[in-house]
Amino acid sequence: MSPIEEIYPFLSQPRNVVIVMHQKPDADAMGSSLGLFHFLRQLGHAVSVISPTNWAEWLKWMPGCSGVIDYEYSTEKACLVLDKAEWVFCLDFNTLARTRHMAARLRKTDATRVLIDHHQQPEADWFDYGISDTEKSSTSEMVYDFIVDSGYAARIDLDIAACLYAGVMSDTGSFRFAGATAAVHRMVAALKDTGLNHTAIHENLFDNFLENRLRFTGFVLQNRMEIFYEHNAALIAIPWKDLVRYEIKTGDTEGLVNYPLSIQGIRMAALIIDRDEEVKCSFRSKGDFDVNVFARKYFEGGGHANAAGGRSTETLEATVQRFVEALKENSSQLQ
Ligand code: 5GP
Ligand code: MN
Repeated sequence: MSPIEEIYPFLSQPRNVVIVMHQKPDADAMGSSLGLFHFLRQLGHAVSVISPTNWAEWLKWMPGCSGVIDYEYSTEKACLVLDKAEWVFCLDFNTLARTRHMAARLRKTDATRVLIDHHQQPEADWFDYGISDTEKSSTSEMVYDFIVDSGYAARIDLDIAACLYAGVMSDTGSFRFAGATAAVHRMVAALKDTGLNHTAIHENLFDNFLENRLRFTGFVLQNRMEIFYEHNAALIAIPWKDLVRYEIKTGDTEGLVNYPLSIQGIRMAALIIDRDEEVKCSFRSKGDFDVNVFARKYFEGGGHANAAGGRSTETLEATVQRFVEALKENSSQLQ
C-alpha cells in the first residue's frame, strides 16, 4: 500500500469513483463516506456510495444518504457501478470481511483500491494506496485531513462539515474518549467556521428514536444485564425474542453496550445479541484492557483497543458460557 499522498495529483482528473463502508454502518462509516462523496463530486468525479447492508433510520438525515446503494437490497445496481469503477475507496474498515456478502465481489475489482481507516491490523496488501492510522479518532477525521492535506480545505462546505462532524462526534463519544485530541477540536473549529449547526446534528443522532427503543433499553437494563464484580466486567445478553417483542431495527441496539461502563469500577462491558442468523458481540473497555485482542482471540472479531466486536455461530447460551470462561481467563488483567 503506497502512501495516500501519491493520489493527490490525480484528484483533479475526474474518474468513476465508488466509496464503500462497512456493513451496518455507524455514523463514522456513513459520515466519512458521505463527506468524501460530496468532496469528490465537487472536484467533478462521478461518485457512488455503497453500503454492504442496510443502515439505521437515524442516519438518514445525512446529506446524500438517500443516494447510498444498499448492496444486499440492490445487488445488481451496486455491481453495475462497481463494474465501471476506476477508483474504489474503502472507508472505516480494516478487512474485506467487514463488507459481508460484498467481499467476494469487491475482491474481483479492477479499480485502483484506496484505504482510509483507523482500525488495527488492516489488510494493507490488498490496497494500492491508503492510510491506516489507529491513533486517529475516526475515519471522518482522516477524510478531513485528506481534503486539507491535498490542498482543498476551501472546498469544505456545509454538507461535508455536517457529515464529518457526525462521524467524529460519534466515534469520540461526543468528544470524550482519548481520541478527541487538540487536532480534533481544531477540525471542529474549522467545521464551525463553515456555519455548521452542531446542535442540530446531536439532535439528529441522539434525539431521533422511537418510543420502543427507550422501552427496550429499560427492559434490557432491568432484565438482561449481569455484573461480574469479581472481574470488573458486565454482560448484557439479549435473546432473539426480545428483538421481536420490541420491534428492534438496525441501529436500535447501538450504544447499549456503554451503559454498564457507567457503573463504578466496571472496566469491561460486553453485549451479546442473538440476531437469529448469527450471534453478534460488542465489547467496550476503559483503560488498558484491550478488547481488540479479546475479540480476536475468542470471537473471530477485532476493532480498537477500547471498542471491538465479534461473532459466534453457537447458540446465545453457549456464547455466553464461552464469554464467562474467557472472563475468568482474563480476570487478572481486569483488576
Ligand atoms: P460495534 O461493537 O459497534 O459493532 O463495533 C465496535 C468496533 O469494532 C468498530 O470499530 C467495528 O468496526 C469493530 N468491529 C465490530 N465487529 C467486528 C468484527 O466482527 N470484526 C472486526 N475485525 N471488527 C469488528
Ligand atoms: Mn470509525
